[in-house]
Amino acid sequence: MRAYERMLEYVKYPTASDPESTVVPSTQTQWDLARALVKEMKEMGISNVSLDEHCYVMGEIPSNIEGYNGPSVGFVAHMDVSCEAPAENIKAQVIEYNGGDIIQNEELDLRIDVNTFPFIEKYKGCHIVTSDGTTLLGADNKAGIAEILTMAETLLNNPEIKHGNIKIAFTPDEEIGCGTEFFNVERFGADFAYTVDGDAFGECQSETFNAFTVNVYVTGFNIHPGSAKNRMKNAIRIAAEYEVMIPDAETPEHTEGYEGFYHLCEMKGDVESAQMEYIIRDHDINEAQRRCEFMKKAADYLNSKYGEGTVRVEITPSYRNMREVIEEKPQVVELVLAVYEEMGVSPDTAPIRGGTDGANLSFMGVPCPNLGTGGHNYHGRKEFAVVEEMDKVVDLLIRIAEKTAEL
Ligand SMILES: [Zn+2]
Repeated sequence: MRAYERMLEYVKYPTASDPESTVVPSTQTQWDLARALVKEMKEMGISNVSLDEHCYVMGEIPSNIEGYNGPSVGFVAHMDVSCEAPAENIKAQVIEYNGGDIIQNEELDLRIDVNTFPFIEKYKGCHIVTSDGTTLLGADNKAGIAEILTMAETLLNNPEIKHGNIKIAFTPDEEIGCGTEFFNVERFGADFAYTVDGDAFGECQSETFNAFTVNVYVTGFNIHPGSAKNRMKNAIRIAAEYEVMIPDAETPEHTEGYEGFYHLCEMKGDVESAQMEYIIRDHDINEAQRRCEFMKKAADYLNSKYGEGTVRVEITPSYRNMREVIEEKPQVVELVLAVYEEMGVSPDTAPIRGGTDGANLSFMGVPCPNLGTGGHNYHGRKEFAVVEEMDKVVDLLIRIAEKTAEL
């Protein structure tokens, strides 16, 4: 079976995760896909397949080299899809693409238009999987699951391909930032791993942001506006004053590449009290910490102006740049770059302006860069995957499994 054919099955499961949920996994539908995957993995002949109480699916393929005592390589993908776009009743279709717009839905005139997405032209002559334009597709990350299991099937059916130990994990709730919360690293048993959760084929990402969440609480003092002179403290105006101190040039809408930012995500309140949620992102941990300090100082300034306790800042770390872990084990990236070279592909190693489950796994002891899947335009109705790129990703994973035995 080809990877895209598997993906067409998986996208039928409406597995959107739910950030408001208090249970793990956040949605019951993820169990349905997890059970189907367990069944498929067992039938295929993958060893030691398990589904734990938090909905993590794991399995392995022992090395087929006699007396093997080399490393174990892991492959990780997530089962949930984003809830940022409609994710139920997904009607996937395969389109032969000959250039121009990709027509998703003739009747409703929904298309992936080439003016907005000029990069689609390079897939002229390829086959494109997309939804009917009314939902997302779910290639994020079902393309990754399909590629990992197609690699597994190929290796199990072709014992002449010699490979190292292979560990497989499918996780719930990645899209709501909880994909590694209950990840059993010991059970997984990989020395290093790859999340197969990027965009274009050819990506190998080993740098993420350092991430912090900053909650700012403002306490005001309300009094009838007719008699408020010199007494009222208007919390929402003080909150606005705080926001104005944040450097305008250091926001997502003005930054790219290695430039970090402050981002105001939410602001609410009234005269009595106000609350703002910010995130801070930077590839450089010192820069991220400098921004955290600045936000504290901005609060100190307003407290000196309006009285102690008016503005309170709470800073919570979210994830760290995996680069520092991977730098200690550079062969994890070198191995992939060597495979790309063999395949005649010039790799894309640009840093991710975001995080991955691999960032957390790296700090949990499993260095874990991210690989492209052949999927594009994630989290929206214009999402699509390129059939031929998905085949190449399967080839990439097989070669990584082979090369692991040479480490
Ligand atoms: Zn993803």
